[in-house]
Amino acid sequence: MDFEYSEKTKTLLPKLTDFMEKHVYPAEKVYDEQVEASGDKHFHPPVMEELKSKARAQGLWNLFLPNAEHGAGLTNLDYAPLSEVMGRSLIASEAFNCSAPDTGNMEILAEFGTKEQKAKWLAPLLDGKIRSCFSMTEPEQAGSDPTLLKTRAVRQGDAYVIDGHKWFTSNAMHKHCKIAIVMVVTDPEAEPHRRASQILVPLDTPGMKLVRPVPVFNYDGGEGHCEVRYENVKVPASNMLGKEGDGFSIAQARLGPGRIHHCMRAIGGAERALDLMCQRAQTRFTHGSMLADKGIIQHWIAQSRMEIDQARLLVLYAAWKMDRYGKKEARQEISMVKTVAANMYQRVVDRAMQTHGAMGVTNDTPLVQLFSYARILRLADGPDEVHNQVVARRELRRVAQLKTAAIPAAAAR
Ligand SMILES: Cc1cc2nc3c(=O)[nH]c(=O)nc-3n(C[C@H](O)[C@H](O)[C@H](O)COP(=O)(O)OP(=O)(O)OC[C@H]3O[C@@H](n4cnc5c(N)ncnc54)[C@H](O)[C@@H]3O)c2cc1C
Repeated sequence: MDFEYSEKTKTLLPKLTDFMEKHVYPAEKVYDEQVEASGDKHFHPPVMEELKSKARAQGLWNLFLPNAEHGAGLTNLDYAPLSEVMGRSLIASEAFNCSAPDTGNMEILAEFGTKEQKAKWLAPLLDGKIRSCFSMTEPEQAGSDPTLLKTRAVRQGDAYVIDGHKWFTSNAMHKHCKIAIVMVVTDPEAEPHRRASQILVPLDTPGMKLVRPVPVFNYDGGEGHCEVRYENVKVPASNMLGKEGDGFSIAQARLGPGRIHHCMRAIGGAERALDLMCQRAQTRFTHGSMLADKGIIQHWIAQSRMEIDQARLLVLYAAWKMDRYGKKEARQEISMVKTVAANMYQRVVDRAMQTHGAMGVTNDTPLVQLFSYARILRLADGPDEVHNQVVARRELRRVAQLKTAAIPAAAAR
């Protein structure tokens, strides 16, 4: 394994870092002010479109997509340090057209979409003209076990008719969001992992109702995590992504890169929190010394540095394994890093908040936003416990298959 940055990464990283310094960090405040001034909490601020056109002009666009036909053609390992830098600001990914859930949706459209689907939906997504959402989780069923999904799509001639209830369809309130990829049951009698399919539903289809953005940490603005009802929603059969029954295999293809991108961004968010923590510690005086001179604060800083670097190495390893052996072979590492990175992120931001005292829980620093993103990450794209279960089951299987004198048979002990 060689985690030396590739030539492509070495070229793009300073450009990206410079762009963040010159354009993205200064735009964070402007972004909030423009939304506030509009009086509409879902307003799409013009500063974002300005950032997008500048980023695109500099070739900092669609960097996430390994598919060279549609994107930058970077490997996951090439992309990891770049995505990390984007993770330092919660508005950055959209500026580079690299934000969830579009990245995952674009990946599956590129991989499984028909020519027509690509022309109609992938092209404008790659262009940054529209945005998308992914609609799988349902309020009435445990989202951690998608074989329990109930939303139905019934074939009627050349169409599917969809009925169901979803929530946490993130991004659906974005002013540019035009298309949902919906996980639906097409054959309830099939074996569990062949029951579901993924189907494209334009947001303006009659019967698709955005009920409400579900408030998350008391916030229901921005792109929204939407409750959605599908009532007699009729879409052409040609909107099926892949074949009927492929829903779970497409979901796996989507979640691998989607999850690791979250982890890459988590490293960047944690780095920014650590920078803020160190800066505060060096400028705040109390009880006879700077905070930076107190043992406990030094311990937090040291722990944070070590935990971030450990998580980064695991991200790079998972990315390397995906590139070299494929997404399926890297499932264990992706599950491991999803849990490790999200928990590390939460701990580091929490320490940074504590170091800031009361200011740490205000909106005067980016820490509160980073903290909520970190906390959400422990649930979104699979809760910690489910990833731990996947990792543990593989370990148990591995040891059960071991043929070694190092472990005597249980009965003989
Ligand atoms: C901010 C946010 C954005 C999201 N965006 C999207 C989106 O865009 N599209 C979408 O479809 N979904 C989205 N989700 C939903 C997310 O994927 C689900 O919340 C997640 O899969 C868990 O499902 P659930 O909430 O129904 O929890 P449940 O399945 O009810 O699980 C509840 C808890 O039970 C425990 N648990 C579950 N399984 C096990 C197990 N095997 N062993 C031990 N404990 C277990 C865990 O602690 C888990 O948190 C989002 C969630 C959040 C918070």
